[in-house]
Amino acid sequence: MEYILRYLFGLFGLLILIALIISCSSEEENIIPSNNSQIVDSEPDPVRYNLTVTSSEGGSISTEGGTYDEGTSVTVTATANPGYKFIGWEGIDESNNELIISVNSNLTIRALFEQITSFTQQGGYDQPTKSFGKIAVIPIDFLDTPDDIRNEFPTKEKLYDLLTDENLIKFFDDVSYGIFSYEIEVIDYYHLKINGFDNQKLFDDTIISNHNYEIQNFNPEDYDHLLFVPVYDKQLAGARAGSWEVTINDKFYSMGTIQSFFVPIMIGYFDRDDSMWPFSDSTKDKKFYSIPTGESSSVEGEINYPLSRFQQTFIHEFIHSLGIGTHSYSSTNDDKFNFEPIVQGNDGLENLDYGDKFCIMGSGEYAWSLNAAYRDYLGWFNDTVRHRILEKGIHNINLHPINTRDNTAFIEVRIPGKTSDFSSIGYKNEGYFIETRSKEDIWSSFLDNAELSSNIEGVFVKKTDGYTSWLLDMSPSSNINFYGTTTPDLRDVVLKQNQNYENDDIKITVISKNLNGSFDIEIVLK
Ligand SMILES: [Zn+2]
Repeated sequence: MEYILRYLFGLFGLLILIALIISCSSEEENIIPSNNSQIVDSEPDPVRYNLTVTSSEGGSISTEGGTYDEGTSVTVTATANPGYKFIGWEGIDESNNELIISVNSNLTIRALFEQITSFTQQGGYDQPTKSFGKIAVIPIDFLDTPDDIRNEFPTKEKLYDLLTDENLIKFFDDVSYGIFSYEIEVIDYYHLKINGFDNQKLFDDTIISNHNYEIQNFNPEDYDHLLFVPVYDKQLAGARAGSWEVTINDKFYSMGTIQSFFVPIMIGYFDRDDSMWPFSDSTKDKKFYSIPTGESSSVEGEINYPLSRFQQTFIHEFIHSLGIGTHSYSSTNDDKFNFEPIVQGNDGLENLDYGDKFCIMGSGEYAWSLNAAYRDYLGWFNDTVRHRILEKGIHNINLHPINTRDNTAFIEVRIPGKTSDFSSIGYKNEGYFIETRSKEDIWSSFLDNAELSSNIEGVFVKKTDGYTSWLLDMSPSSNINFYGTTTPDLRDVVLKQNQNYENDDIKITVISKNLNGSFDIEIVLK
């Protein structure tokens, strides 16, 4: 019926056109035959066909078609709505979303669209798992190191023992769920031909790394990492990880060729100013912490962890060297949640480097475990310990402490559609990681402290941009003024039973804290 109507309309249009020609061309009237029907009958009637284009839900088409003369080319484009993709045509054997149809028969076609699954709203991918690292350790002393001081330095055997200590091995085994191990080889002390007592020199990476190391029977290409250990007096000059230019046995290795890091040892007392730098041995000292409790009050002491500062710093730099180029930050907003407008006076504190005091890649003052975002990035998980949430909807999870191996140990949440600019090199979507700690775990045993114990009553929530991680404060309390410095109060940061955290993307609710130390959590991805 539609065909007939369109045909009649077409015919009617043609008659009007002819009438217009007649009225506008009086001078040529004599050559226009007076009988209109005769014209129509005498010209060959063009063969016309009907093209009908429709669309399934999830997209649109550039034309609904119409009636065309035989041989007419008609361009039809199918465009998917956001969240849908074009998957093909019904009625024509073509797969391109843009068609040029040569009309030579009646044709009805339908563009087909399909809702994009949440997987395709997710960019990036899991990075290759880091499962092993072989480290060459190069201890360094200096021209001006006196023999009596030098005698106090750890021997290469002692260095080997320090770096393969069973607790160090256990740390990497725990945080990688048994996936990662490393091997250490310590070479002889390298006598760097510069004076060493000027502590500032160790702040300059090039002095240690950009140097021709002549080391017999040593090929850096046999190792995954080089660890330089300058052994020195005074204060630790700051450990570093990165990729520097270095020359070994006259062979130049350009930036990016060798993953290097250096972890100085502070030891001895040569030329030391007692008033500024008390005698110290970072191979034995433990990290000193200070938990602000008020303007001029704090809890201080030595963290009861089984590793020395040197060993802790080794872990931190080694993890950098494995591919974690940032620290574990904090994201706080005084007594408001991080997503609320920045509280006046909080500028500069909302994004603190080393701000996560509960992670070895943050300041690690309150606990030590490696946060879940970086475990995920390093490939340290399996399907048992990692619970992934990639789709919108309601998800219920039973979460166990982060170093558990036979249950869910962390939750990875990726916001559909919030892809990273670096998804082409694997960075996954923006999202959240949720983890909880157990004080039975030696790396979190310090949470037993009265100032910190509330953190074992709930779950830690971190956000990620696909790479870096930020510890969020789930129970925001006012910043602390501590000896004239304003600092976020991170003594209690967890989300506890019956509490929830909600922003435009997500709602996280702790349903219950269970007797076995696990938490039942509901996550709504909006
Ligand atoms: Zn660092």
